Amino acid sequence: MPVNVLFSARPALWPVYEPLLTKGLTEAGLDFRLSTEFAPDQVDYVVYAPNGGLLDFTAFTRLKAVLSLWAGVEKIAGNKTLTVPLARMVDHGLTQGMTEWVVGHVLRYHLGMDQHITVQDGAWTPDAPPLATERQVCILGLGALGEVAARALIALNFNVTGWSRSAKDIPGVTCLHGDDGLRNALSQAEIVVLLLPNTPATVNILNAETLALLPKGARIINPGRGPLIDDVALLAALDSGQIGHATLDVFRVEPLPEQHPYWAHPHVTVTPHIASETRPTTAAQVICENIRRGEKGEPFLHLVDRDLGY
Ligand code: NDP
Repeated sequence: MPVNVLFSARPALWPVYEPLLTKGLTEAGLDFRLSTEFAPDQVDYVVYAPNGGLLDFTAFTRLKAVLSLWAGVEKIAGNKTLTVPLARMVDHGLTQGMTEWVVGHVLRYHLGMDQHITVQDGAWTPDAPPLATERQVCILGLGALGEVAARALIALNFNVTGWSRSAKDIPGVTCLHGDDGLRNALSQAEIVVLLLPNTPATVNILNAETLALLPKGARIINPGRGPLIDDVALLAALDSGQIGHATLDVFRVEPLPEQHPYWAHPHVTVTPHIASETRPTTAAQVICENIRRGEKGEPFLHLVDRDLGY
C-alpha cells in the first residue's frame, strides 16, 4: 500500500515543495502518494505548517507522524487532538540564515554602525570600537540555532555566554543553565540574543526584573518569539536608558500593528519576521528522511517534547 503524504501548509508553497518531496521520496525508494487533499483516514504523514489551516487531527486515524516545516512549534505542540509523534524543522539552510542574521545584527551593535556609518552629519569623532575580545554577548537558547550562532560569534572572538534548560558543553562558550545561570548570563551581557522557543516556561523571560540585571545600555536582539519579552517592561527600560536599543524580528501580534509603540521608538529596529526561514531544498530532505525513518521503523529526527512544548 502506498504511503500517503498530505501537504498542509501555505498553498503557495505546494508548487515549490511538490517536486522536491517527490524527488526525495523516490530516492528513498518509497511507494508514495503526495497531495494537498486526502480523506483524513487515508493519511500516513502530514507535512505541516500552521498556515495550512489544519487544527483537528481526530479523523486522521492512521497517521504516523506530523512533520513541521517550522522550527517553532508553539501553535501545534499543545494540540490535544494530535496523539502521534511531532517533529519540528531543523534545516541547515534555516540555521545558516539565522546565523548570518544574528552575526550581522551583533556586529551592527558591536561596531556602532548606526553612529559611524549611517549618520552623515559632518561630525568627526574618531572613537574606534573595541575588539570583539572585549565584548560580552549572551545567547539565550543553545539549541539548533543558538549553538551555531554562538560558535560563529566565538569564531569572531566575541566573549559568548549561553543559557539553556539543560547543561551544555560547547567549546569556547560559557554555558549556563537554571535560574542562577540566567542571572549570571545577563549580569555581564552587553548584547543579548534570544533564540528560545515560545513555551509556558519562557514567556516574558525578559521582564522588568531580568532587564534590570543587564549592564546599563545593553542591546537586545530578538529573532526568537515575541512572547519572550514583556513589551511594557522593555519599552520602560528603553525609555529609561537601561536598554540602549532593541532589534525585534518577532512580536506577540504579527504583522506588528501600525499603532504599536515599537514602530516609532527611536531606539527600536523592527524587522518583519525575516531573521531566517525554512529553505525548501534542504527542508524537503529533512522531511523525506523522517518519512523514510518512519517507514523503516527507525526513530524520527527532531522530535518535539510535547510536555516541554519544544
Ligand atoms: P531548539 O529547540 O533547538 O533550541 C531551543 C533552546 O532553548 C535549547 O537550547 C533549549 O534548552 C532552550 N530552552 C528551551 N526552554 C528553555 C527554558 N525554559 N529555559 C532555558 N532554556 C530553554 O530550537 P531552535 O534553536 O531550532 O529554534 C529556537 C527558536 O527560534 C524557535 O523555537 C523559533 O521560535 C525561533 N525561530 C525564529 C525564526 C525567525 O525567522 N525569527 C526562524 C526559526 C526559528 P535545551 O538545549 O536544554 O533543551
